[in-house]
Amino acid sequence: MADLIALSTRVIDGGSSEGVGPLNRINHELSALADDVAMVEAFSHSIVFKTNDGLVVFDTSGAAGGTRVVEAIRGWSKERFNTLVYTHGHIDHVGGCGAFLADAAAAKTPRPHVAGHENVARRFDRYDLTNGYNLTINARQFRGFGRRGYAIGGEEGKFLPAASAKPDIAYRDSLTLSVGGLDFDLHHAKGETDDHTWAWIPSHKAICAGDFFIWNFPNAGNPQKVQRYPVEWAAAMRTMAAQGAELFLPAHGLPIAGAERIRRVLIEVAETLEHLVGATLAYMNEGAKLNDIIHSVKVAPEILERPYLKPLYDEPEFVVRNVWRMYGGWYDGNPAHLKPAQDQVLGAELAKLAGGARALTGRALEIMTAGGDLRLACHLIEFAVSAAPDDAEVHAARAEIYQKRRDSETSLMAKGIFGYASGESLAKAGIEDPHKR
Ligand SMILES: [Zn+2]
Repeated sequence: MADLIALSTRVIDGGSSEGVGPLNRINHELSALADDVAMVEAFSHSIVFKTNDGLVVFDTSGAAGGTRVVEAIRGWSKERFNTLVYTHGHIDHVGGCGAFLADAAAAKTPRPHVAGHENVARRFDRYDLTNGYNLTINARQFRGFGRRGYAIGGEEGKFLPAASAKPDIAYRDSLTLSVGGLDFDLHHAKGETDDHTWAWIPSHKAICAGDFFIWNFPNAGNPQKVQRYPVEWAAAMRTMAAQGAELFLPAHGLPIAGAERIRRVLIEVAETLEHLVGATLAYMNEGAKLNDIIHSVKVAPEILERPYLKPLYDEPEFVVRNVWRMYGGWYDGNPAHLKPAQDQVLGAELAKLAGGARALTGRALEIMTAGGDLRLACHLIEFAVSAAPDDAEVHAARAEIYQKRRDSETSLMAKGIFGYASGESLAKAGIEDPHKR
């Protein structure tokens, strides 16, 4: 059993995660963290509490790993599952629900309760409404990461696994769940989602934080998903920081122990989000355009070096866009974008000016090869491919440029989208895709 708390203490106090391996581990191993408290590391972790009336489990992990999570828990306790708590309705947290229900059915114990915020059920309804869209964006987000089994639910063609039960215990603002002599104070706050729960467990001086803390830059900007809430997120971090928790249990990455250490990292995440919101709003209030704002608002590089603020999943530029979306409209301030020309029409016109789609392509490759601005090279190659959508040579260049762009980015979200674009063009150019799953 890995000593996860010793590891996180070393990483936080040392200020660097170098040499400690991935912090978001998916090994389906259980670690006992305190008397009657355990964590199974998985696509989302399951955090398990023993009570006098069975187990309470925060998050069920994804569909692909649910069974292994249950097996790991069974190696630690044979008590029945009394209640499952969803920290929110993302599929890496609710997808494993079926494995827990199946365990109860096989053992002929009562079906576990499922607790969560009232918006979890609305999310599930939305997933039904947008099933195809969600499959598409997940394919883009996780392209080339070899995690299909984790990213996608249990059934082919279905984003939300059918066995993921809606909460039968739903609440709006807060709820104290008392199970077998143990109290769980569930608190709602918006952050990554509008259905988030974090919990304070007084007798363990512990917080279950869900995805408010993910050992990565906060997922407050995801380009393909519905609105995130950086302001409320920061406020929730400050509320959690004030609890005096001795044990902090996020749904991804390592647990953290020690009241002062916990307070310090939570405040740092809050301050970083508050900075992005404040700076973006200041520009908005001056009448700046979105494009100018995303090129102006930054997070200090030394902050992004913190082992729990690295932009490896989401990134600050995307958060800026989400702040704009939260407080503004979709109009970005560029009047040509209000009612834009069709991409093909604009591409064809620019190709004509440049001397053809191949000329645009040549310039894009030149910029890339010279180590120039890949943002610019991507614009040019998009114009070229819009002008010549069936030209294999143009697509071969586009595939190369987006692969290079992918490799130059840090965040999984940018890597996924650029890598997916590269794959699209490899297919059009008739070149075999080494990343194809
Ligand atoms: Zn998650």
